[in-house]
Amino acid sequence: MTQQVWRFVVEWMVQPFEAHMHGVKRVLYSGETKFQKVDIVETFSFGKCLFLDGKLQSSEYDERVYHEALVHPAMVTHPEPRRVLIIGGGEGATAREVLRYSTVEQVVMVDIDRELVELCKRYMPEWNRGAFEDPRLKLVFEDGRKYVEDGYEKFDVIIIDLTDPIPGTPSVLLYTKEFYELVRRRLSGDGVVVTQATSLRYTLDTFAMIRNALASVFPIARPYVAPITSFISLWGFVLASVSRDPLFVRAEEIKARLTSMNEALAFYDEEVHRYLFHLPRFIRGRIELMKDIPTDSNPAFSQP
Ligand code: SAM
Repeated sequence: MTQQVWRFVVEWMVQPFEAHMHGVKRVLYSGETKFQKVDIVETFSFGKCLFLDGKLQSSEYDERVYHEALVHPAMVTHPEPRRVLIIGGGEGATAREVLRYSTVEQVVMVDIDRELVELCKRYMPEWNRGAFEDPRLKLVFEDGRKYVEDGYEKFDVIIIDLTDPIPGTPSVLLYTKEFYELVRRRLSGDGVVVTQATSLRYTLDTFAMIRNALASVFPIARPYVAPITSFISLWGFVLASVSRDPLFVRAEEIKARLTSMNEALAFYDEEVHRYLFHLPRFIRGRIELMKDIPTDSNPAFSQP
């Protein structure tokens, strides 16, 4: 009798009492960069996946849902985005979505981990789909906070696509009030910022705290969610601005902006835009209860 031998990646879901076992077809890369442990594997359920420090970052199955939900609400909320800053975004899919807009003249992508970006280029070309070769994209390898702190040029849209604020990792101080004050300084008058804001299933308070930090700096701060099946969770995002409100972008305006794109989107359109900002009652209730504002001396951590 032949026996099937299975291999798994075990992903701990923040808490020590729940894990997701991903059956592995093929390991494409497994190693460590200066900043994080990297596993690029082909799984049975979600296709090719990137894990950083054992945590799923994006999967072939639904990376388009995550990246479209992160990028497009902010892009359409700005009337004419020309200069865009991406902080993090190692896979290149956030840049791919931004570069769809013909108004965009320059995208600066600042990721701390050069080795990771090289691995993503090599093993996950389906994610960037040529974005790294686009002459409008400038890659900078530096800590995103330092980049924002040290420079002066302004951006129309700033997209923060970082790993979750897990204690001891380099993204923790990019989810604080002080960081968002620096971000505000780097936005043009109509500027819009958006950040991924962790899991609503596992770290709902962290999501509410990230929203509070942005709301303490910007008059408009809108939390929203998208369903990311491979993360086994509704996923949180927060969009903020001094003057632009995503709730008042007209459906016809969104439709017009999207029809000029070469390739259709998989997830987002004017109808989905409305639905993203309608949060379930229990989430709204939890946001109202949570009063903490993460700061540099007391940051939010990705923990239940
Ligand atoms: N989709 C993801 C998620 O749900 O968590 C985020 C994906 S993306 C791979 C996260 C990127 O953030 C990585 O490429 C990592 O190198 C980058 N990163 C982490 N800390 C950073 C920092 N301080 N400055 C710039 N990039 C950072």
